[in-house]
Amino acid sequence: MFNKYLEKIKTYEAGKPIELVVREFGIKPENVIKLASNENPLGASPKAVEAIVQNAKKASIYPDDSMYELKEKLAKRFDVKSKEIIIGAGSDQVLEFISHIKLNSNAKILRSAVTFAMYDIYAKQFGAKIIKTPSYEHKVDEFILLIKQEKPDIIYICTPNNPTGDATKKEDVFQIIEAAPKESLVVVDCAYMEYVQDKEYKISPKELLEFENTIYLGTFSKAYGLGGMRVGYGIANEKIMHYLYKVRPPFNITTLSLAAAIAALDDEAFLQETLALNKKEMKRYEAFAKENNIAFQKSFTNFITYFFHLPLQSSQIANNLMKKGIIVRDLSSYNLNAIRITIGLPKQNEKVLQELKKELKG
Ligand code: PMP
Repeated sequence: MFNKYLEKIKTYEAGKPIELVVREFGIKPENVIKLASNENPLGASPKAVEAIVQNAKKASIYPDDSMYELKEKLAKRFDVKSKEIIIGAGSDQVLEFISHIKLNSNAKILRSAVTFAMYDIYAKQFGAKIIKTPSYEHKVDEFILLIKQEKPDIIYICTPNNPTGDATKKEDVFQIIEAAPKESLVVVDCAYMEYVQDKEYKISPKELLEFENTIYLGTFSKAYGLGGMRVGYGIANEKIMHYLYKVRPPFNITTLSLAAAIAALDDEAFLQETLALNKKEMKRYEAFAKENNIAFQKSFTNFITYFFHLPLQSSQIANNLMKKGIIVRDLSSYNLNAIRITIGLPKQNEKVLQELKKELKG
């Protein structure tokens, strides 16, 4: 007998890897354009790469399990205490820890209609009930109504939201948190927060610490370009940390990941270059959508989501692009006739839009 709750889980479908396109369509790896997993098109921070190389020989040694240096650096950056931080193998692992400390088969989670798929997968592992708001945007009244009705154990606010790219105003996030019962944990997933420049939408871990039942999640996978290193973090008060640390396995990120994340935090130039490129190239995708009558959501992230009308079908468009070596994310599994495209390098974007234009003509 296996855990009966697992029967209800549809295995997470990750963005397709370059190797698959090489294998299936015989395209050279250097010609594949992978814009499906919201990775940094500039690669990793050069300082992080240098740290990985310098530390390669330490591969035989377990990492510092206290993660002292990384936590100190993050604490300084966000003006919080080191004790208020937990590191995970990606923020995914912090989501898993959160599920362990809050969920069981009587528990409930609340989330927006379309959001990051892992919230459900973890909830289902525990047999917890999933409550969804009607809209994919985080609408305060919808959240408050369901909070009052359902008293969820975890309330997820993903801002900016994946896979739609929209963000929630800070005042709205605060209103949702204020409506949450003390027994609930509000998870504010800020995996893409570095890309947000508008003050009304920018949220810091420090201001969330004002609330006793809230946790901020961040990651090195996106703006810092370290998706392959798997480093994320949660920031919350010491009471929440007390429980999270009980479910964290020892040495949960690698020696090299730790070195890379520490170095990446010092690479402000790389971060700024990343944000500037994203901003500039995002404009190109917006202009293309307007010129070609494609509906899109204003994006606060490093990707844009294009919505299609039938007879155009997102699955078919994504498949046709893949045959040409372009990997984007089809969102049919979210019940959206849409594709999500990570903003790439100028040359990549040019090629993507050129090929997409052909698809629109049919
Ligand atoms: N939250 C959101 C909203 C995401 O989009 C992702 C990555 N796709 C994650 C969390 C997890 O990222 P990671 O585990 O790489 O930190």
